[in-house]
Amino acid sequence: MSATPLTDKAMMRLRALAESHQLLPDSIKLLRTEEKMVQLTGQMAITATLQQEQVRYAGEARGKLDRVFRSREDLDNYLKHVEKEFQADSAWQDDVRKDLEKLPGKGWAAVVPQLRFDERTQHMAATEPCADCAGRGAEECTQCAAKGQMICVHCNGSGSDVCDWCQGSGYNLQDTSQICNYCGGQRFSACRMCKGNRAVACPACRGRRVIGCQPCQGKGSFTQSVTVSFVADMHFRDGSGHGLPVAVRRMIDRQNGVAFLAKGHATIRMNETTAKGEQQMLIHYVAEFPAAEMTVDFAGRKGPMTCFGLKHAMVEVPPFLDQVLAPAVDELKNLSKKLGDVSVLRKYAAVHEALNLVLQGRRDARDLLRKMPIGLSLARAQELMQLSAKALHRQNMVWRWGVAGLSVALPLLVAWLCFDAVNIPTPWDWLLLPFFFLLGVGVYVFGQGAALKARKLGDAVTLRQPFDQFGWAALLVLAVLMLVVLLFSAHPPQGLPSLITLATVPSTP
Ligand SMILES: [Zn+2]
Ligand SMILES: [Zn+2]
Ligand SMILES: [Zn+2]
Ligand SMILES: [Zn+2]
Repeated sequence: MSATPLTDKAMMRLRALAESHQLLPDSIKLLRTEEKMVQLTGQMAITATLQQEQVRYAGEARGKLDRVFRSREDLDNYLKHVEKEFQADSAWQDDVRKDLEKLPGKGWAAVVPQLRFDERTQHMAATEPCADCAGRGAEECTQCAAKGQMICVHCNGSGSDVCDWCQGSGYNLQDTSQICNYCGGQRFSACRMCKGNRAVACPACRGRRVIGCQPCQGKGSFTQSVTVSFVADMHFRDGSGHGLPVAVRRMIDRQNGVAFLAKGHATIRMNETTAKGEQQMLIHYVAEFPAAEMTVDFAGRKGPMTCFGLKHAMVEVPPFLDQVLAPAVDELKNLSKKLGDVSVLRKYAAVHEALNLVLQGRRDARDLLRKMPIGLSLARAQELMQLSAKALHRQNMVWRWGVAGLSVALPLLVAWLCFDAVNIPTPWDWLLLPFFFLLGVGVYVFGQGAALKARKLGDAVTLRQPFDQFGWAALLVLAVLMLVVLLFSAHPPQGLPSLITLATVPSTP
């Protein structure tokens, strides 16, 4: 086994990268390496607290409860007992250790705000009768003395009223020889307010004799509910780093802390736990990982780089591919001006990826850097993406014009056959127009994708190729030609004049 396994891994990857860019593997030479184990420490302070959540509501206790008490006093006494038990209990510390084992990196730099111990949560409640209504939920109506009815004030309890029609005379006022039809000469009719009942329902209780108790909403009782939960707050603090390479330190700064190490970069141990009283504990961590600080000759360009961690992450590799790709960039520039074979440039892995991304309709240089994360600068990646798009555009131009011409000519031929050669006047002529239009668009769009596929420029080619000015110009020409065909056809749709007919109308002498 090699004494510098991490360095060997890094060199293997760099050489593979060089080979995929037309360099000889041994153009990457290791000049110097220093490989060692790095240890970072950290500690987490954990404080347990008992949280109480109190709610008071009208009515009986609701929901799932662990304990129900007969009075507030009993409940308060029990809460004091729970508090006392909590102060003396340190069994939760074992639960914390178990919970942390389940977290990534055993809780190293965890940003979980709190550990909760749901099995220790208790829901309890005490229900007491309402003091205002003594638990009855309602009080007697004072307005009607709990009778539910009140004497009609309109008729003063008599149930009848002077007749409206005859104004109490008993006669028909229009013809006094007749008796009043309405009261039949009685001079009185039933009271309109109480309909002859002599009494009306009490407006305060609406006839119910009782009025619901306001404070308890008529429920007669109040419930005090308490949820007690046991939580632990965690506070992680970076400790010292022993022999930490500068590049890794910068990486930690970029990642805003050491938390990323828990994602498989380091072996993390919970070294010891210290109980500080019953409600506090301190956990000491050690994160250990290998790191190699290397000096490498990257095809003539010497520079430092660092490889670290169990995932062999390479950081601060100089952008040596920028120089290696110079001839490819020149060739791409050429191919964006004249016809040629773009696919030969796929021997450079970075150009191959750039061409594929462009053919998939992507233009962002960061997509390229995600596929080629080592040895390429952002500026070079942007240049590669732009030039790849331009070169493909240029090479594709003949196909674009060909397909555009075809998409105009084909519907035109069909249109001429339908509108002119066959003289059948039909209202369907109008519907044929958008149909031909869509046919043109379809031929053009799918034709482009097919054309690119035929050239085998990419492994994956989307049919969503750029439509741009060629597409729009083709469609415009198509639309204008369609209109001309329509105007000159022997049977134009109603409302449109036929130019042929207009031209041949004889002038009246
Ligand atoms: Zn009440
Ligand atoms: Zn009443
Ligand atoms: Zn009345
Ligand atoms: Zn009357």
